[in-house]
Amino acid sequence: MGKKRRGRDRLMTCCSCGRAVPRNKAVDYERRSSFTTDFRDQENVTAFSTTTEYYCISCAKHRKIFEKKKKQAERARERKQGGF
Ligand SMILES: [Zn+2]
Repeated sequence: MGKKRRGRDRLMTCCSCGRAVPRNKAVDYERRSSFTTDFRDQENVTAFSTTTEYYCISCAKHRKIFEKKKKQAERARERKQGGF
C-alpha cells in the first residue's frame, strides 16, 4: 500500500450492489461482529472484530446507514459525557 496509482481516489466496492465508488463518495460503516469458537479442548474464545463496509450513496440511503451512523455518533457522545 501507499503506492500512488493513477486516479486520485481509491475505488471501493459497494457491499450491496458491487458498484465501484470513489473513496470520498463511499459511505463507510463499521460493523461489529463477534465470533465464538467452539473447540472442546479449549475454552470458548469470543473474538470481536470490526469490519468496515463500504456502500455507495444510494445503497447507504436504502439501508439507512446514515441513520445508523447518526445513532452511533450519539451513543459515542453519551459515553464521552458519562451518564451520571
Ligand atoms: Zn451500492
